[in-house]
Amino acid sequence: MLKRLQDDFYLAMLTLVGAMIVLCVTPYGIYRLYSGNYVVGIADLVMVTCAIIATRMAWRTGDTVKPGLFMALVFCFGAVLVCINLGVDGLFWVYPFLVFIFFLVSPLKAFVLLIAMLACLLLFAQWRPGQVFASQFQMLSFMVTTTITSIFAFIFAYRAQLQRRELQRLATTDSLTGAANRRTLNDQLALAINEHQRFGRPYGLMLLDLDHFKRINDNHGHKAGDEVLTGLIPLLQSMLRQSDQVFRFGGEEFVVLLADVKPADLAKLAEKIRVGIAQFLTAPDGSHMTTSIGLAMLQPAEDWEAWLHRADMALYQAKHDGRNRVVAG
Ligand code: GH3
Ligand code: MG
Ligand code: MG
Repeated sequence: MLKRLQDDFYLAMLTLVGAMIVLCVTPYGIYRLYSGNYVVGIADLVMVTCAIIATRMAWRTGDTVKPGLFMALVFCFGAVLVCINLGVDGLFWVYPFLVFIFFLVSPLKAFVLLIAMLACLLLFAQWRPGQVFASQFQMLSFMVTTTITSIFAFIFAYRAQLQRRELQRLATTDSLTGAANRRTLNDQLALAINEHQRFGRPYGLMLLDLDHFKRINDNHGHKAGDEVLTGLIPLLQSMLRQSDQVFRFGGEEFVVLLADVKPADLAKLAEKIRVGIAQFLTAPDGSHMTTSIGLAMLQPAEDWEAWLHRADMALYQAKHDGRNRVVAG
């Protein structure tokens, strides 16, 4: 449970907001019911119930988008209802809700929801003057302060979102080639094993290693070697389906993971890649690069280490047999 909270930021935030609502709003809801204000009491308890349902849903399904939006909509609706019924006492609740919403949905959605919520309050105040705000001046102060808070919360949430995405990118991709890194490969292989065991989904693996790559570095320098590696990724992607994933395994070795592929199609595609590289991947002196490829289809009851090892053995065989060839393991 702690691991899921650590790994999934959105699930952790949704749970935190859910817990805060349950802890802070429940006593108020009970008090309002006890003191005879049934509308606010029921609104409070409906918000608490919805927070529990949304949090449970997120934990069960792993999806935080729909439960987050559901919770945010309920909070906005609840906040308007509470303000209309309690007047100034209810307005204080808008400030924490305003911050909560940025933890539940994307910054832009949160901002739009807040503007809609403030517009509803403003329209209601025009229709029934004196019920929500004690004076026009108070209404103006409320609108200005909530708008300022919303703008700063939006900027903060937007920047945090950008930084989180950048961190995610740095943690999952190789900085030189932009291909997914080995850590992502481990995760994706484990996921593939899971899909294969549960649904029998077929998976194939290609392990590619450029032939005599060391010579490029030795003859033209490390930078030239880097450029060849960088050029390889778009070339590979141009020959693959969008769903096929390319990983940098290390050095000048790359892995391609393919779902829903038959052994014969895997061999055909690997041959196409071998020919494509020999034709289009060139060293700085114009000479053509070649690659050796090891193939392995995922076998029942196989773990990912054994699967990868078979592809590695096939690659070793391809090198041993003279390079620039495909061998199936
Ligand atoms: P083989 O055909 O047996 O694969 O020969 P090879 O020269 O390609 O294989 P080897 O494993 O001996 O050499 C791989 C070289 O790749 C060694 C290393 O200097 C180079 N290399 C590894 N990572 C990088 C990198 O990020 N940039 C550059 N320029 N070179 C790299
Ligand atoms: Mg090599
Ligand atoms: Mg190598």
